[in-house]
Amino acid sequence: MKSLEQAIKKRGTVLSDGVLKVDSFLNHQIDTELMFSIGKEFANRFQTDKITRILTIETSGIAPSFITAHELRVPLVFARKKKSLTMTSNVYSSSVHSFTKGETNQITVSKEFLCADDRVLIIDDFLANGQAAFGLVEIVEQSGASVAGIGIVIEKSFQPGRDKLEEAGYRVESLARIQSLKNGSITFLPEPVLLTN
Ligand code: 5GP
Repeated sequence: MKSLEQAIKKRGTVLSDGVLKVDSFLNHQIDTELMFSIGKEFANRFQTDKITRILTIETSGIAPSFITAHELRVPLVFARKKKSLTMTSNVYSSSVHSFTKGETNQITVSKEFLCADDRVLIIDDFLANGQAAFGLVEIVEQSGASVAGIGIVIEKSFQPGRDKLEEAGYRVESLARIQSLKNGSITFLPEPVLLTN
């Protein structure tokens, strides 16, 4: 997605060979216009997949998921990283190691908000090693629902997350695929050419 790649190039900061900071439009301040475009793009890509619910993880997955859910006219559920006092023990949960924070969180979703006949689209801001995505997949599986696909705003393709998810049989749609962050410079994988006849 060209506008996203441009935002990453112009407004992103490479913190190391493995970490990109995009606080100015996604992880701290939110560029609502860009978020609308991102949400619409996810909705287009999963338009025909009979999605009934979107599942993301707080905090940075919420903004892009919100627009996608609105476009597809389905509810958005976000997994919590800290169990709220108002949540009873009636939850699905899974443990996720955070790539950027170096800590492990027990993520939870109330059983009220996922059911066995749901077709779930999982969305997250970044894909690195796939821990967050697999944690969300595990929650969907606990509910008996099916995973229709995984939508990622920024994929770091030099890390193994996509390969692991695809090997496990999941469809991954990433809107920007970063090939390398080496030496402070950001390069993208080319967007696949759609063949029509
Ligand atoms: P994974 O679970 O795939 O290893 O990492 C994805 C999660 O870690 C995302 O939810 C995101 O919050 C965080 N993350 C991973 N890599 C980056 C990065 O380069 N920049 C930022 N801002 N977050 C990242």
